[in-house]
Amino acid sequence: MLGQLVQGGHGVNPSRNEHTIAVSCEVSGRGYWSGKEVRVIIHPASLGTGVRLIRSDLPAIPVCEGLVSRRYDANLRTNLAHGEATFQMVEHLMAALYALEIDNCICEIDAEELPSLDGSSFEFVEQLSNAGLIVQAAPRKRLVIRDRLRIGTMDGWIEAVPSRAGESYFEYQLSFDDQTPIAPQAFGVELTPNRFMREVAPARTFVTKAQADQIRGAGLASHVTNQDLLVIGSDGPVDNEYRFRNECARHKTLDLIGDLALAGVDLIGRFTSFRGGHNLNGQLAAHLAEMAAQESHGTKSSFVKQPKAA
Ligand SMILES: [Zn+2]
Repeated sequence: MLGQLVQGGHGVNPSRNEHTIAVSCEVSGRGYWSGKEVRVIIHPASLGTGVRLIRSDLPAIPVCEGLVSRRYDANLRTNLAHGEATFQMVEHLMAALYALEIDNCICEIDAEELPSLDGSSFEFVEQLSNAGLIVQAAPRKRLVIRDRLRIGTMDGWIEAVPSRAGESYFEYQLSFDDQTPIAPQAFGVELTPNRFMREVAPARTFVTKAQADQIRGAGLASHVTNQDLLVIGSDGPVDNEYRFRNECARHKTLDLIGDLALAGVDLIGRFTSFRGGHNLNGQLAAHLAEMAAQESHGTKSSFVKQPKAA
């Protein structure tokens, strides 16, 4: 058995009930890729709703669960779809909801892509914190990692191992090749709402100057300036400054948390990614979701513990 589904919470307090927000809150901006103006209104929701995203701009007002079963592969971001309706770049919102322990809410979105904001989760966290939490009348389900699980290759992998004291720990080890201006760096955090707010949420999306030139050369993201994310050249960020010495590893940790949140349960264990990206995160989230489903149905997990190719 690789995991066990139990009731409780993540972080230093191992037991908690489900939460929603006390009042609706709102964040708006433009999408990185689409450039479209978009407004996200996050509403409280009843027990057992989970995170649901709805497209208020479409006639049918389609609904999509914030779960890995709705995920599809996309370059440099995490997208969800239900039927024709897509919900693009959801990871920074999902990370904020997961870390702040907001289990039930309806996110009303009026375009296909979520707002890029400053490239971080900070504004989501700020608005959600201001909205306040309501404790609901049932315990939050969680998946406790009992055995080591690793997926990927030697060049990039992601691993889940049991935690020593019931903590939820997320770590990213960044090591790009010699041609990039981003130095090897790492960041890890025992996740609590406060630590996420202070140490992870402000870390911004980044690209190298070469990647930015390539994207702009292809006529994409022409509205995105060097202040809307970190564009990293040989002398560091172009027209910008790091918020943290290891801001890139912190942002990758943010993405890891947001992508694994799609498993739909609290995760008790130590999760480490070495050079992984959204695709590998999505594969692990799918494993974790299946483990949680098997545990809740009382069937034995069938996952192999050996590394496998990505
Ligand atoms: Zn990101």
